[in-house]
Amino acid sequence: MKFVCNDCQQVMEFVDNAPSEDGGSMAISYTCPSCGRGISMITNPGETQMVRSLGVTIGHEALSAQPEPMAMIRDALAGGTPATTAPTGPDPVWTETALKRLAAAPTFVQGMVRRLYTDYARQKGYAEITPAVMTEARDALGMTGM
Ligand SMILES: [Zn+2]
Repeated sequence: MKFVCNDCQQVMEFVDNAPSEDGGSMAISYTCPSCGRGISMITNPGETQMVRSLGVTIGHEALSAQPEPMAMIRDALAGGTPATTAPTGPDPVWTETALKRLAAAPTFVQGMVRRLYTDYARQKGYAEITPAVMTEARDALGMTGM
């Protein structure tokens, strides 16, 4: 997927994408390298799910090569809890060190990672999320680099 600046006929450069906190829509931003004009594409939950289910890679999205977590992310972005075992109980608390480690991840995946790890910890019955829990969740979910 590419965007071309109408004035310059230049392929616009991907800037960032960010899953929103409501878990459905997604903003994808591009700028023209020639004139600097910027555009953002906002998808609604259904469109996000459609794009992802087609296996389209958006921008620099690094997680698209991971089928299993993507299926969970797809469900999360579709606006509901994952279709797997419905998590129950209160949200686990993120410790300060865990949050620091999360902050080291690329901005556009932090929301998804946070949601996935929180769900994982809740399903495991953990009261808090520490770096050790993050490592465990990362391995269990087949993620890398978080
Ligand atoms: Zn331009």
